[in-house]
Parts: sequence; structure tokens; C-alpha cells
Amino acid sequence: MGIVIVGSGPAGIHAALQCRESWPHKSVTLVEGENYAGYCRPLLPLYMAGQVKEEKLFLFKPGEDHRLQVKTGAKVQSLDRDRQTLRLENGEEIEYERLILAPGGRPIIPRLEGADGLRGVFPVRNLPDARSVRGWIAKEQKIVVLGGGLVGVKTAAYLRSGGFQVAVVEKENRLLPQALGEEPASYVENHFRSMGIDLFLGGSLEAAEGEGGKIARVKTGGQWIPCDTLLLAIGSAPNVSFLNGSGLLEEEKLRVSQALQTRDPRIFAAGDAVTIFTPGGRRFTPWTWPQAVSQGKLAAVNLYRAQPVPLKTLTRVNSMNLQGLSLTMLGAFEEGSEEVSYALPGEGIFRQIFLREGRIAGGALVGDITGAGPMHHFMIGGKDPAPEISRLIRPSFGFLPRGLSERGLERRRARVISGEGK
Ligand SMILES: Cc1cc2nc3c(=O)[nH]c(=O)nc-3n(C[C@H](O)[C@H](O)[C@H](O)COP(=O)(O)OP(=O)(O)OC[C@H]3O[C@@H](n4cnc5c(N)ncnc54)[C@H](O)[C@@H]3O)c2cc1C
Repeated sequence: MGIVIVGSGPAGIHAALQCRESWPHKSVTLVEGENYAGYCRPLLPLYMAGQVKEEKLFLFKPGEDHRLQVKTGAKVQSLDRDRQTLRLENGEEIEYERLILAPGGRPIIPRLEGADGLRGVFPVRNLPDARSVRGWIAKEQKIVVLGGGLVGVKTAAYLRSGGFQVAVVEKENRLLPQALGEEPASYVENHFRSMGIDLFLGGSLEAAEGEGGKIARVKTGGQWIPCDTLLLAIGSAPNVSFLNGSGLLEEEKLRVSQALQTRDPRIFAAGDAVTIFTPGGRRFTPWTWPQAVSQGKLAAVNLYRAQPVPLKTLTRVNSMNLQGLSLTMLGAFEEGSEEVSYALPGEGIFRQIFLREGRIAGGALVGDITGAGPMHHFMIGGKDPAPEISRLIRPSFGFLPRGLSERGLERRRARVISGEGK
């Protein structure tokens, strides 16, 4: 019996590598339901657009470490905590001494009238689907991406720059609604429009129609949009159904402490599958790559500790480049916080910080992400940024030609309320 890890996403892979480092005498078995282990989901849009080869997706290759075994095509069906055993779909049983659950999420598939059984409709989540998309789409095709969140905008931007005609349908009135308020989102939308991406905001998909068994058009806001491909990117739900009856779920959520421990002291969990319950009663579901990595590592380090240590930061920080537009999202807006912003619309730059009780509680940097590191540092250090705020909110010296940065508009707004800043 050794350590068993379920899932080979970033949480599972980093947990496995960290276990080998922290507990070198323990053997580790990584169990993965798909036929591949350790590929990079954030690269899938690039792969679908034909801009990266499949072998470049793999960040992890099982090496020569005889104490680290990777089992692919091994889907866990159930967990028996009394017997410390996992049961796989093929009937095999695997015993564990300690267990890390990192099964990530599965795509949410909307019910869409008329779309049942049509070819050309794919979720955006895993490599097999991305392969199907890559094999299906051809240049000049019209692709509708349903969902303007993180996955949807990345998918749209890369496919557009790969030469495809792309439209995004988002039911909220802006792109990236979970991460950005209206003002920063408008900069992303302008960038998308300048790339030639059509945006349909503020309405969900109402219906779909096919021709010859293939998707031919979708309807939103009463308007039909012709398309050859429909990509579903409306979010994911934790992959935890195999834990039904295990006693680890609460309101269907895989509940962990801030130290990533489940209610069973021998079982930890990390990544997109978990909901972290903080001692203060908050729930935290960051569901991003950097958090999956740091949680995987921490779960591993904590496995045999008498006093597991909590995650240091409960922030959702993410940076990306949307084909020419750099973007850093510094975490959720908090009601009642003060907003400091800086705008240089002609240059496509908008920078925003939310301050609460003398610390940075969130923000967004669009078009210029200089200084994101120091901002994050203030954020996690809980240090009062007041003396530095005017420097932090402006693009760092040297990024813009002399004099241009002074033309930007700096603004302060006290007590942003719900709905206004979001
Ligand atoms: C297209 C796309 C683009 C993205 N871009 C970004 C980005 O730019 N930045 C960012 O921060 N995040 C991005 N994300 C999100 C990021 O990929 C996830 O937050 C991250 O992969 C979560 O890691 P994880 O290890 O928790 O889960 P996952 O990566 O989902 O891995 C979980 C693994 O567990 C396996 N598994 C599940 N159930 C079982 C079972 N019962 N038995 C065995 N194995 C099982 C699954 O097959 C899967 O391989 C993107 C996601 C997608 C889909």
C-alpha cells in the first residue's frame, strides 16, 4: 500500500512529483481515466487551431522512477474508505495508505433544442474532444463558441487567429463575466471586434438547426447565426460523482479544509474538483491552472503531517495573452471595496484595483500588465498599498513612450456596490 492519486491534471501531476520529493520511500500510483496523462488543457485551443503539435501538449512524461506508476485508461468508479480501496470501472481494486483526489471537472453540456445528434457540436475540455474538433474544422469554416468565460475567450481568440470565422455567444452582457467588470471587459470586447470576432452578448442560445445531420445555424436573441461548428464552453462541474456514498461530499461538493484535507484524515483533494471551506465560513473555488498546481503540491506535502498547513493564498490570479491583448485577472471584486482605475482607451489599456480594509482585494489589468507581480505581492502579503497606489495603478515606467502614460485618466471611486463593479 502506498500513495494513490486520482487524476493526472496539473493538481494530480504536481501532487505525484511532490510526493516523490517529500516522501521518497513511498510508492505513488497515479490513476487516470483517460488514455493520456499529464497534458496541458490551456494549450488545447492552440491545438484545435492547428498552431501546436499534439506532442507539445504533454508537460509530463513518465520517467524511470520505479516508485511512480502511472495507470491510464483506469477510471475510478467508487471509493471504499473503510477498506481504503478504490474500485476501477474494469473491476480492479487499488488499495491506498493515503489518497489524493484530483479528478478536476467535466464540461457542462447545455440542453439545446434541435442540437441532439447533430455532428459538429463539441465540448471544449479534453484532448479527445480537441482532436475531434481539429479533424472537423476546415479553413473558412464558421465557428460559434458558446460561452464567453476563460475557456470560451481563449478558444475564440486562437481559432480566429488560426484563420477561422468565429462568433462568441455569452448570456451575460459582457465577456469574462466571472472575472471582469463591465469597463475592463469592454476593452477585451473591443479587441475581439478588431480581430473580426462577432460577439453576441446578453442572450443564451435558444435553438439550433442542422442540415444533412450537421449543425447549420444557431439562434440567439431571436437571430439565426449560420455556423459549421458549435463549441460548448459554458463551464465545468466538479467530477465527483464517483464519490457518491463515500461520505466525502457535502451538498454534492467535495469539501476540503484550507489545508486541503477532506473529512477523512487520510484523504486530501486538490484542483477544480474541490470546494475549500475556510475557517471564516467562506467557500473558495478558484478552478484555475496555477491554483491546481499549488494545491496539488500542498496536498502532497500535507499527506503525512500531524498538523497539515493551510494554503497561504486564496486568490484567483490568472494571466493570459489573447492574441495581442495581455490580461491579468487579480481576483474577484468585493462588494463595498474602493476602486482605483487608470484608463488609456486609445492604447487599449485599462487597469483597475479594488481596495478593501487597506489591502488589495482584487483587480484587473488589460492591455498592459506591468506591475502585476508587485500588485499580487501586496495582495497576498496583506500589506497596505496606499503609499504605492498611484505608482501601481499606472503602467510601469518604460512600457509606454514618455508622456503617454501621463495622458491616462486616473480615477477613484469609493464603495463600489454589487452589480456596479461586476
Ligand atoms: C480549453 C481550456 C483552456 C484553459 N485555459 C486556462 C488558462 O489559460 N489559465 C488557467 O488558469 N486555466 C485554464 N484552464 C483551466 C485549467 O485547465 C484547469 O483549472 C486545470 O486543468 C484544473 O486542473 P485539475 O488537475 O484540477 O483537473 P483536470 O485538469 O481536469 O484533470 C483531472 C483529471 O482527472 C481525471 N479523472 C476524472 N475523474 C476520474 C476518475 N473517476 N478516475 C480517474 N481519473 C479521473 C480526468 O480524466 C482528468 O485528466 C483551461 C481549461 C480548458 C479546458
